[in-house]
Amino acid sequence: MRSDREIQILRLAGAADGRGTRLGPCTAILEVSPDAFPGVELLAIGNDDIVRSHPAVSGPSSVEIDASGCVAIPGLVNAHTHLDLTHIGAQAYRPEHTFIDWVDMIRERRETTPDAIRASVRAGIDKSIRGGVVAVGDVAGVFGLEPLRELVSSPMAGKVGIELFGIGKRQKSILERMADLAAAASELTRNSSRVDWTWQPHAPYSVGTSIYRRCARECSDRGVPMMTHLAETPQEAEFVAHGTGAQVELLRRLDAWDETCIESVGRGETPVEYLSPILAESHSIVAHVNYASDEDIGRLIDAGASVAYCPRASQYFRQEQAFGPHRYRELLEAGVSVALGTDSIVNLPEEDSDRLSTLDDARLLVRRDGLPPEVALSIATWRGADALGLDPDCYSLAPSRLPRRLAGLGLVDVFGLAPDQPADARVMASERPSQLVRPTHMPAKNSAS
Ligand SMILES: [Zn+2]
Repeated sequence: MRSDREIQILRLAGAADGRGTRLGPCTAILEVSPDAFPGVELLAIGNDDIVRSHPAVSGPSSVEIDASGCVAIPGLVNAHTHLDLTHIGAQAYRPEHTFIDWVDMIRERRETTPDAIRASVRAGIDKSIRGGVVAVGDVAGVFGLEPLRELVSSPMAGKVGIELFGIGKRQKSILERMADLAAAASELTRNSSRVDWTWQPHAPYSVGTSIYRRCARECSDRGVPMMTHLAETPQEAEFVAHGTGAQVELLRRLDAWDETCIESVGRGETPVEYLSPILAESHSIVAHVNYASDEDIGRLIDAGASVAYCPRASQYFRQEQAFGPHRYRELLEAGVSVALGTDSIVNLPEEDSDRLSTLDDARLLVRRDGLPPEVALSIATWRGADALGLDPDCYSLAPSRLPRRLAGLGLVDVFGLAPDQPADARVMASERPSQLVRPTHMPAKNSAS
């Protein structure tokens, strides 16, 4: 064993993984090292007397850690985020602003130089790690190569979606550019075992079907999930159903407008109905789905799409007032894969914006909707990993089949909270972030404490 690796003997208040593991007071034996951070090797977990018989415990590099006020959970997954908007920070919701005003604000404040884009992404990675997140589905704006470069050199895992806007007049030039972008992105990720790139056509109202079809085909060929926004706003629903509304005005203002913008819309379809034939061509992660009819739920199942639900973003934009409650529980019950996303920091509450964590979204659902804590934990961890094409076993704390490499292990301080409740309920009752386990000699620059 190399000297910078250590064995940690963690005494815990409990452990839970949203996958059937739910332990009371227990001890975990881990092997940790700075070069594997945030990954750790789980050697044993369970009853203190039993796991202490593990041979690693008696080695010279073992360290006892009293985490008896904490519940251990797997590393968290953020299935939909925009790390390159982190520099904008949390912005209070302004009811007088339309969604188009909001889009204009983002367009104006987006960084455009490589150094500034990378600094914003780096800040987003720091906030993710501070919130216990180890894997992301990141949307990389402005042709995406700078965010990809930053993610590849970071400890995070996941997929970076190179975002494309191309409808009407813009469609042809984007199609011409895709091969060069793909070559550059593939070169950047060639040596990365953790991060891969994919296509993120922005949304049905900003991307034409020829770009969507090519993205789906290329993602399918490469075995990566295509990512896109879908069924997010009433303006999108109007544009898709009727080819009218604020989105048409925006396209005219951006000088993207020509008649091809509406040649495939205006047939009264829902956004999910409109896009589902394309979604069926590859595995896709569709962000938001604030609106889904019963038929749409069936279409998402048939297309094998995963939904990245961003509860705090939907709440911020008052989407429930337009569409009614989000149907994520019905989607899950019907067999659609659902995972949580934060969306960008811009739409998060100021008081939580020191971190970018889907644990905060999971807690909102438990508090607001009475979602069972185990389900909440599942959509914040392994279900997101599964949607992103990562190994869900790296998000399991099951005491069987050890040792197991974990993508990360987080500790949530639950001291004094609901002591009679199961471990996952205590995690959801806490307001404290999940702090990733790291070697004791490694500076915790991203620790929340
Ligand atoms: Zn988004």
